[in-house]
Amino acid sequence: VVRIKRNILAMQRSELEHFLETLGEQKYRAAQIIDWVYKKRVFDFVAMSNLPQRLIRRLDADACIQVPVVLQRQSARQTAKYLFALEDGNTIESVLMQYSYGNAVCVSTQVGCGMGCLFCASAVGGRKRDLLAWEIIAQVLLIQKDLDVQGQRVSHVTIMGTGEPLDNYDAVVCAIRLFGEYLGIGQRRITVSTCGLVPQIERLQSEQLAVTLSISLHATDNALRDRLMPVNRRYPVEQVVAAGRQYGKVTGRRVSYEYIMLKGLNDRPEHARKLAALLSGSLCHVNLIAWNVIPGRPFAPSDRSTIERFSAVLSKMGIPVTIRREMGGEIQAACGQLRRGQAEVETE
Ligand code: SF4
Repeated sequence: VVRIKRNILAMQRSELEHFLETLGEQKYRAAQIIDWVYKKRVFDFVAMSNLPQRLIRRLDADACIQVPVVLQRQSARQTAKYLFALEDGNTIESVLMQYSYGNAVCVSTQVGCGMGCLFCASAVGGRKRDLLAWEIIAQVLLIQKDLDVQGQRVSHVTIMGTGEPLDNYDAVVCAIRLFGEYLGIGQRRITVSTCGLVPQIERLQSEQLAVTLSISLHATDNALRDRLMPVNRRYPVEQVVAAGRQYGKVTGRRVSYEYIMLKGLNDRPEHARKLAALLSGSLCHVNLIAWNVIPGRPFAPSDRSTIERFSAVLSKMGIPVTIRREMGGEIQAACGQLRRGQAEVETE
């Protein structure tokens, strides 16, 4: 008979407490184990020195701590891109960005993505499955374990890797809460992105979370956005911006709007004026992003001078704007690109 060991990481605190009770142990042992795993980054029961030997033996027999496997770690300057293998063989990616203000980790929320954005490599194979809350947190846990060696901490989490976070709503909201509880990363340091799922944005604003919402807008007219982001056919620009405006009003949190600059398509001064008019009077911030080229797509990144002109128009019209540093371009840190690289290697 093959004995299936329970993965401690996959259990919520209450499940772990219940599991320990079935082993004849006290509930408080759960807190000790969680502390070892998440705060001390120890994944071996034998090293958990405040657990009694009999419990360690039981845990060794009936449970395991199975973290995703680091398949690849590519670094370039202040960026490190990780490729992890999950238990079922699927791969996901995360990116560590080391800024002057701290270390931010960008996590994935799904294997692949079903949203089909034309400029995005994650969309190519479609959505394979949602990640579980613990698989989202494990990405940060493992990167934090690497940073421990440098005496550094993950200070920020951006939930904007592969996948549409609000399409995996429950796991993402659960992960947001656990980032604070398990890893001490407060909600004010967490950003959740969406391609504009209006009902979920409305739901999120009532969760009493202090996270920043980041809306991928990329175009202000529906014809172009329909083409770039098929989700726009369900929730057009005006509805998305109205939901963002409301989110800012209800939560008091500034909403950031992501805008990938695509040469000749959405980067002219009149586009900037339209964007400013749409966002006017709302609690917002615009991030202008130079596109990381994906070979074979019918786009080119805008020139630096065009991006600067666009930014100046927004500023003049009172919209706070930042031109994003192009971190990670050289290691293809745009979402989905490393995972695809791996998939191509596997199928060769
Ligand atoms: S940009 Fe985001 S929502 Fe769109 S396909 Fe890529 S991962 Fe999915």
